[in-house]
Order: sequence, then C-alpha cells, then structure tokens
Amino acid sequence: MKIAILPGDGIGPEIVAQAVKVLNVLGEKFELESAPVGGAGYAAHGHPLPEATLALAKAADAVLFGAVGDYQYDNLERALRPEQAILGLRKQLGLFANLRPAILYPQLANASTLKPEVVSGLDILIIRELTGDIYFGQPRGVRECPDGAFKGQREGFDTMRYAEGEIRRIAHVAFQAAQKRDKRLTSVDKANVLETFQFWRDIVTDVHKEYPDVALEHMYVDNAAMQLVRAPKKFDVLVTGNMFGDILSDQASMLTGSIGMLPSASLDANNKGLYEPSHGSAPDIAGKGIANPLATILSAAMMLRFSLNKAEQADRIEAAVQTVLSQGLRTGDIYEAGTTKVGTEEMGNAVVKALG
Ligand code: NAD
Repeated sequence: MKIAILPGDGIGPEIVAQAVKVLNVLGEKFELESAPVGGAGYAAHGHPLPEATLALAKAADAVLFGAVGDYQYDNLERALRPEQAILGLRKQLGLFANLRPAILYPQLANASTLKPEVVSGLDILIIRELTGDIYFGQPRGVRECPDGAFKGQREGFDTMRYAEGEIRRIAHVAFQAAQKRDKRLTSVDKANVLETFQFWRDIVTDVHKEYPDVALEHMYVDNAAMQLVRAPKKFDVLVTGNMFGDILSDQASMLTGSIGMLPSASLDANNKGLYEPSHGSAPDIAGKGIANPLATILSAAMMLRFSLNKAEQADRIEAAVQTVLSQGLRTGDIYEAGTTKVGTEEMGNAVVKALG
C-alpha cells in the first residue's frame, strides 16, 4: 500500500508528521513517500503542483495531504499560487466525492456554539459532489440580458446542470457509506424549484433500488439547513450537489466547535482518495508547535477505512483520539479550564501512546 505524503505549507508539515507517526505504529506495511506541494512545490520546482508530485499522487493508493497557502505567495499570478495545487489534484485524480464527517466527541461538548444537549455525541457524514453543478456548468459569464424587465442591461449568469452518470456515481458513494454506518441517507435537493434537482431526486430514487437495506429520505435544502442546527443528531449521512454541499458542510463543521478536529476525504470512482484536514495552512500559528494535529490524524483514519480497506485500524485510531480527549489533553483551539494544554508534538505522541 503506497501512500503519497504531501505536507504542503504553514502548519502542514507539523500536523502531517504526527499522522505519519501514527501510521508507522499500526504494524502495517505502508510505503510512504513525500513530495512538496503548494508553496513548497513552487519553492522547490517553480510550480505548486510539480510534475513529480502529481506523478507520485497518481501512482499511490491514497494521498495524505496537509494544507497549502502562505502569505509570501499571495502576489504570485493565480496559476502559480499554492491553492492551485489542491484544485489541480482534485481534477487530475477525478476526485468527485467529498466526504466530511462532523463528529462532536462528548468530551468537547462545550466547544460548540450550540447547546451541549443538541450536539453532544453528534456523528454525521456529509457527502458533497465535488466536480459538477453550477460551479462548473457552461455557459457562464456576463452578457446582455435577452428578455424580461431588465432586457438590454448587463446580466451575470451561470448554468446549473448534472448528468445522469454524475448523479448515479455520487449516489452510489453515499448509499455505500450509509451501509457502513446507521443505514440512513438524506438526499438534499431543491426539487420543488429546480429542474436539475428534480432530476437529481429521480436518479437518487432509482439508485436506491440497489440498496434496499438503506432508508432514504429526500429533503429540500432550506429545510436541511434549518434541521442541521435544530436537531443535527437526527441525520446519519447526507448527500447533495456541489453548491448546497459547499454551504451545508461548512455549516455542519461549526457544530463541532473547532476546525482543528475535522477530517475530510475526496474520492474517485475506485475509492482512491485524497485525505486532508478541513482547515487551511494556518500561517498565523505555523512553526509555533501549537496546531491541533487531530484533524489530520483522523483524516489518516478515513484513508484506512475508505481507500485501504483497513477499517479496524481506522477504528483503533479513532478510539485513541477519544482516549487522549478523555485524558483531558487539549491543543489551544479546543482548550477549556480544567483540561491540560499540549502542543502539536505532545498531542501526536499521546495518540501514539494510546494506540498501545
Ligand atoms: P485556516 O483554516 O488556515 O485558519 C483559520 C483559523 O483557524 C486560523 O486562526 C488558524 O490559526 C486556525 N486553525 C486552522 N487550523 C488549525 C489547527 N489545526 N489547529 C489550531 N488552529 C487552527 O484558514 P485561513 O486563515 O482562511 O487560510 C490560511 C491559508 O490556508 C490561506 O492561504 C488559504 O488559501 C489556505 N487554505 C488552504 C486549504 C487547503 O489546503 N485545502 C483550505 C483552506 C484554506
């Protein structure tokens, strides 16, 4: 099992080092190979996604990614900015399914802005289609308005579209993920207003025939946004399009209090994936040894579960994270009175120790 390790910029190298430590004590034979990406890629090879880095990512069974971006690269032309690396990897690897679990460990119930009884024990998974929808649909642009009350004025326009195959493949990912959990799937759409999402609903309903063990419900996106803050624990897996997923997954991430706890996976058609924390490179705290490495360690657990077929090892890592939280260890972002503040390295070492 070959894993490409792409630490990137800012806190990326610090947090990825902790996840690598964890992978190395599992007793598995992983072949880990690192390469520069983002600002580090530009500094080493003049491009945020150097050819050798892309080749490594393509050849590997999975990619563990830190984060990219740093102030010193903000004035580069857009194509050379560090953030282009992650967009390039998604496109080149065909990563169309974005999985973002939002888990609030009971030990961190006070970290959320919602009441503890509403969110304590929250464990939901949002699956966002990542390469289609209005974000990519053509035509788009600014033109002369062809009709209506504003005819002749300039207007901006985009195109929302989803091909049947695009909907089917994300629906399969969602049903299969639900099968591994509580077997409940909520498909979020706007079928009452949008043709694209009536079509989405019809196709998801059709794919459901292949997964009779999963309970499927359809929900309009406005209602889903409301339910996510009213009673988030009633969801298990949610699947939705690119734009709705963009908004809902960020909303859900804040239910859990700190972005430093949230892993993510982006998968292709064969469950090969890129795994990264949901946060960025946090240049404001880079090099200080205080970043929370748990989102990256939990991303490594997702990698074991979804791409490397090592669900038991994933369970072990997640249990070890629970153990260190129960021991009261906290990085600054999740610290509260009565707990013990630790740095990035100490947190990583504690997870390794908890693994036994
Ligand atoms: P950010 O997520 O890097 O940071 C937001 C805030 O959260 C900061 O205060 C930061 O210190 C804190 N934070 C983030 N991760 C943390 C962690 N693990 N532990 C403790 N605190 C943490 O977002 P930003 O400040 O908007 O962006 C910084 C850079 O990251 C930019 O260059 C941006 O383009 C890039 N970025 C990259 C990715 C990616 O690589 N996928 C995603 C988002 C942003």
